[in-house]
Amino acid sequence: MGTLSIVATPIGNMEDITLRALRTLKECDVIYAEDTRVIAKLLARYEIKKPLQRLDAVTEMQKAEDILTRLEAGERVVYVSDAGTPGISDPGTRLVAQVRAQLPTATIEAIPGASALTAALSISGIDIAAFTFLGFLPHKKGRQTALKKIAESELPTVLYESPHRIEKLLEELVQHQVSHIVIARELTKIHEELISGTVAEAQAHFAMHPDAVRGEFVVIVVP
Ligand code: SAM
Repeated sequence: MGTLSIVATPIGNMEDITLRALRTLKECDVIYAEDTRVIAKLLARYEIKKPLQRLDAVTEMQKAEDILTRLEAGERVVYVSDAGTPGISDPGTRLVAQVRAQLPTATIEAIPGASALTAALSISGIDIAAFTFLGFLPHKKGRQTALKKIAESELPTVLYESPHRIEKLLEELVQHQVSHIVIARELTKIHEELISGTVAEAQAHFAMHPDAVRGEFVVIVVP
């Protein structure tokens, strides 16, 4: 029976990959990736050549069938998402559930590494003994209820947000009377910055620095 390795990849800085992850990528039979073009850049950087297959959110269940066949044949299969840890606001969890259910004797191993969630929390400077992670908020149905719960929460809430929605999210947080937030932008990249203060201060920062609205964001709502 084969092995399925769920491998974390960098969230920006290509050096943020573990020795074990590189060895696993070098030794596997095939790599399934959320986007083969993204992983191809990482593999080129580390001079790794492997057969690549795509497995994204749409094809996850269908490709899981191929992976089951490979595991039955004893292959070593890797899954990587575009960035960070698979399954964290990324595909991967349904694949793992399927393999666990259909092939209980297959080995499923985590090769841990970067995640925007833990990177942002680690430099937030707030008490993170306990926190809530919600990832991306729903765009429509359930959004207002989620925002209300976040505003009332006694724990920090960690959210993922895209550049074209960050200003809308800040406006909504104001409407729900959220006071303090921490925003981690472009973690591990050239334009990395951490904005900590009131929501109004963050809005003023983006108004003064329109370039800062670009990139990737982790938003932590401070209780
Ligand atoms: N699996 C990834 C992880 O472990 O963090 C998350 C993937 S999710 C599709 C992408 C979101 O993660 C982005 O929209 C952003 O909210 C956050 N993110 C990813 N990379 C980031 C970075 N370098 N800086 C800040 N946020 C990042």
